[in-house]
Formats: sequence, C-alpha cells, structure tokens
Amino acid sequence: MDIVLKNANVVHLDEAVRKADIAIKGDRVVAVETNIDAEAGQIIECGGRLVSGSLIDAHVHLDAVLAAGLERDNQSGTLHEGIDIWTDFKPKRTVEAIKERARRAIDWEVAQGTGFIRTHADVCDAEQLSTQALIELRDELKDRVDIQIVAFPQVGIKSYPGGEAQMRASLDMGADVVGGIPHNEVTREAGVESVMFIFDEAEKRGLMIDVHCDEVDDSHARFVEVMVEQTFKRCMGAQVTASHCVAMHSYNNAYAYRLMGWIIRSGMNVTANPFDNIILQAREDTYPKRRGMTRVKELLAAGVNVGMGHDSIMDPWYPLGRGDMVEAASLTLHVCQMSGVEEIDNCFDMITWRNALNLGLENYGVAPGCQADLVVFDAASKADVLRINPACTHVLKRGKLVAETKPAESTVMGGAVNFTPGS
Ligand SMILES: [Zn+2]
Repeated sequence: MDIVLKNANVVHLDEAVRKADIAIKGDRVVAVETNIDAEAGQIIECGGRLVSGSLIDAHVHLDAVLAAGLERDNQSGTLHEGIDIWTDFKPKRTVEAIKERARRAIDWEVAQGTGFIRTHADVCDAEQLSTQALIELRDELKDRVDIQIVAFPQVGIKSYPGGEAQMRASLDMGADVVGGIPHNEVTREAGVESVMFIFDEAEKRGLMIDVHCDEVDDSHARFVEVMVEQTFKRCMGAQVTASHCVAMHSYNNAYAYRLMGWIIRSGMNVTANPFDNIILQAREDTYPKRRGMTRVKELLAAGVNVGMGHDSIMDPWYPLGRGDMVEAASLTLHVCQMSGVEEIDNCFDMITWRNALNLGLENYGVAPGCQADLVVFDAASKADVLRINPACTHVLKRGKLVAETKPAESTVMGGAVNFTPGS
C-alpha cells in the first residue's frame, strides 16, 4: 500500500459513519476495513477523526475571485452595482492576472478540503479571456483539484449582440458545461428562447447544463419550470442543474410545491449559494425581510438533490470569503433553519456526495474502487465539522497528499481548551 489511514471515522456517501482503516494504492482506495496491517509507504494516524470524500464547490466564479475593490468598491452592495463594476473591470483583465487570482483562491479551497470545483467563466467578451485562463488552470492544477468550466453568459444570450456566438466560442474552446441566465434576458420570451438554446447546445455536444436560474426576488421569475420541462422531455435528468433559484423563496406555496413535484420527476439538481444569496437578495425589502435563499430544507425533504456553491470569493458582488465550503454549509444550516440532527448531516452531505451527484462525478467517496480524494477533519462527526469548522489536517488528491493544516491550540490560564465536550 502507498498510504494507510488508521482509526478513522469513515463516511461514504449517505452511509452511517463507521470506524475503519483506509488503504490507498496509486490513485485508488483499495480497502476500508478494521485493522489493516499491510505494509505502507505512509501511515496517517487519524485517532477517530472523520474522513470523507473531498469537499466539492459546485458553483464559483474563479474568473472574478479576489477582484473586489480593484476597479472600485461596491458601495451599495447590490447585485446590479456588482455587475456594473464587473462590466467596467472586465476589459482591463489579462489571462495571467485572472490565473494569478484564481490560483490563490483555489489553494485556499484546497487547503480547506475542496477537491472538485465547478467554476463559471464569463463568455461575454470577444477574446474569451475567462475561458482561456480557466482552461489553462484546469490543466496546470489537475494534480491538486479537478475543475469543471461552465460557459456562463453574464449579460445574456438572446438579449446581447453576439451572445450565441460567444457561448459557442467558449464551448468550442473546451468549456465542460453549458450555462445561462434566462432571468437576465430582457423579456420572458427571450428567456425561454435562451433555455432552448442552452439545451440544444448541451444535447448536441453531450454536455451537462448549469444555469443561473431565477436569481431574483421577483415571484414572477419562473424559468425553473422551463428548465424542468426541457429536462423531463429530453430525459436529461441529473445532467442538469438549476443554480440559485431564489425566486422560489417568494413563490406562493401552491406553485412552489407543484414545481418541486416536477423537479423530482425531471431528476434535475438544484444548487444553493448561501453567501451571495443572503447578502444580495431582498435588498429592496424593508421589514419583514426575506432570507433570499431557495427552499433548501423543503427541496431536500421532497427528495430533490440539492448541492451548494461558494459562488463569490472577494469579488465585486461579495467582498468577503476565504473559499471555505464548511462555512457555506453552516450558513445554509442557520438561514434555512436546518438544526434537526438529520438536517445538520444533510448540510454536510450537500458539500460532499450531493455535490458529487450534481457534478456527475463517478467513483466518489470512501469505498474500495473510489478515487482517493479524501479529507481528514480534526473532528469526529459530520455535526462537529459543522459546529467547530475544524482544520482539515490532511487533504489527498488521487492518493497524493496535497495539503496539510496543523490544528490551532488554545489555552486559558495555562490550561488547554478542547472544544469537544467530554473529551
Ligand atoms: Zn453564480
């Protein structure tokens, strides 16, 4: 064996946590059993720490990370001022500068346990700088992280001169996923046409779909239903993801539950983006003020696969963030009032195996035959990961150690402090 992780609390997909050792050979997990005594190049003593598949960020904009304040600050904090700043900043970028900022944010994510990232790349510029930069990074950083690139039309496809050509240019260059933003098209009709374009391109090219859908507080924004209809009719199921879906927060319950039924039947995934949704939505509300997130708790209870993204890391829309998916899950837990024991576990699941379904990953998890993309948390359970937000002591990519973090040590009046009661 190359590596054996001893005395782990192992979590594989939706199975219950169990105590075991994990043996890795090459890029694969080859055994998960109690008391593995095989010779190994490296032994990692886990001492009851939780070991799961890598964390997954299902939605981020790596072409915009760390750009907060470079053009100017977003004084109002609104989505629209963010888009205006981005529009002014975009032509001043270079491929090298985009890569430099993205590389730094990727390392933040990797150090905190993320092994898979789905990033959007803004296609609305003639030179396709974002797609070029992110394709180069996808290749250069493949030993530490797997990256999927979504061709994302920030300004729109149908309401923007050359929108369709720019989408196709990005996909021809090698983007992996077809994106969209139907609620940003000028009319309902243009929005529906954009969804048809997205599905036609994806079907023709055999690609997945991930659309910014109904990212507005307007209860009349109803493009999720158009996506669901197309997903169902074309039998594309889990190849399709609707991201954000925050208008669902504002739908009347009769419509929302009818729609959830159709999401289930279609097999489509939903991705929530807590940082941006909470900070950007309901800005025109006084009080009561809406929470701005889609109905994560209700969607999960209905059986929909809901994943999660970091979305922004210090960009014109959100000036904070450090690429921490556990923080995103914790935020979702609180805002969506998911404090039941199973619901807390569900929040961990959204940044692990549920996101794996979302991204169409195969061989994900901690079982024989899985790709050895693993994280050792300095905590014993999923709930404690959410409660403590512990260090990821070891992060493995394809069986190789790619990041290590030493847990912080606190003392009070000379005595050590342990944040786990009873230990
Ligand atoms: Zn986004």
